[in-house]
Amino acid sequence: MLIAKDASYRLLPFRFLRIDSHHSQSILLTAETGEYLFVSEKQLNDLVHKTVDVGSAHYKDLLARHFIFEPNGHDPIPEMVAQYRSRKSFVLDGPALHIFVVTLRCNHTCQYCQVSRAPLSGSGHDLSAEHAALAVDRMFESPSPVLTVEFQGGEPLLAFDRIRQIVDLVEDRNVVEQRSIQYVITTTLHHLNEEILDFAQRHKIQFSTSLDGPAFLHNANRPTPTKDAYERTVEGIDRVRARLGHDAVSALTTITSKSLAYPQAIIDEYVARGFTSISLRPLSPYGFAKTSAKRLDYSMNEFIGFYMEALSYLLKLNVQGTFISEGYASLLLTNILTPFASGYVDLRSPLGAGVGTLVYNYDGDVYPSDESRMLLEMGEVGLKLGSVDQPLKELLESPVIALLLSAGVAEALPGCSDCALVPYCGADPIEHFARQGDPIGHRSFSSFCQKNTALLTHLFGLLRDGENFTQKVLMSWLARRNLSNLPSAGYRD
Ligand code: SF4
Repeated sequence: MLIAKDASYRLLPFRFLRIDSHHSQSILLTAETGEYLFVSEKQLNDLVHKTVDVGSAHYKDLLARHFIFEPNGHDPIPEMVAQYRSRKSFVLDGPALHIFVVTLRCNHTCQYCQVSRAPLSGSGHDLSAEHAALAVDRMFESPSPVLTVEFQGGEPLLAFDRIRQIVDLVEDRNVVEQRSIQYVITTTLHHLNEEILDFAQRHKIQFSTSLDGPAFLHNANRPTPTKDAYERTVEGIDRVRARLGHDAVSALTTITSKSLAYPQAIIDEYVARGFTSISLRPLSPYGFAKTSAKRLDYSMNEFIGFYMEALSYLLKLNVQGTFISEGYASLLLTNILTPFASGYVDLRSPLGAGVGTLVYNYDGDVYPSDESRMLLEMGEVGLKLGSVDQPLKELLESPVIALLLSAGVAEALPGCSDCALVPYCGADPIEHFARQGDPIGHRSFSSFCQKNTALLTHLFGLLRDGENFTQKVLMSWLARRNLSNLPSAGYRD
């Protein structure tokens, strides 16, 4: 039996993970507060057997990062409480992201479409003026001091009158409410005109578009009758920038199986277009994406291989002097390296859906997230919260929220509760419901877990082993946060 050389300290709760066996500091320790430290096997043994040399720098590190405390010394609890409160501050804010689905109509016929669409001239697929006004009422019932109003579709610019009505209602109401409001339109930019640009300029509206790479790839991924989706989106990007400024438009990339062979070409396209951020998103299990899975889907392993190649190319470009960050890595790095949460809904615990986000569908129904709305189009009605004519309190007390919350705290989920990565990860019960038919899900078969494990451990490896300049690049991705880091806009169509 090991005898403690010095038992003057006590352990605080922590988790650990063996990242690789070859490195001398192969074990990642993470504290409840999100602080971390790499240690050797011997250091881990010394720590738990209370034989760490009290005078050593390592001991001081363990103390400062809240892995241990001295019963007769400084009380760590108030500090830890403050840190925990910062990391989870979103819990008390109420829904901050409000997605208005103003129409389902769209001119594209993308096979992987994440939001099931209706034909351009289809009727009965637009949000009514009455439902829009009720949705604005629901939004202001949220106590959140910061509100993001995101317009989605279909193609939301096809229902620009509804967008205008909603923005006008919000502005009128905000004279009294005095919230901080951000507007985002998620659009292909194909239907942009001077009237829309004027309005966007007046109300500081941002645009979030999809650019899947060079013309051959974008046009193959996003078919339109005129086969010029790329040209029209690029023209739209130029028009927005000319009128509203360079940073008024951000772009997201959906990775299809066709995209997997072109990580560099996709990134080169973004650099050529002057973007300083790119978001590389795997196909979602929702919308039409699931039904066309045979043609377009790929394994998470293939996506991770693609992502690693893309990340290494991005780091190389940055080192050579071209600043371009990757959206998801920036969110994960924010969770690892800052005392704050990234704000991204899928990386929250407790979950972001419903608690942090509400979606007002074109038919007046309310959903906890964009994904649960997409499940509806696939025949799943179970995740609806209610209707826009119900008060927010009632919507948030719906059985769906209770179900999601029961599976929405990662720290209490099987597999996650003892995972060292849990301070930086999320629960995402809707993704598990979509993929596994169960909001809790099984982490061994979870592509969400597979992706986050691979990406987080890779980033931790870079933070530990990366050359000085690699670490500087990763730090610079934290400092320059832009539209891709808005609560939803990072990873939605
Ligand atoms: S989803 Fe996976 S990586 Fe994330 S906390 Fe749970 S077990 Fe860890």
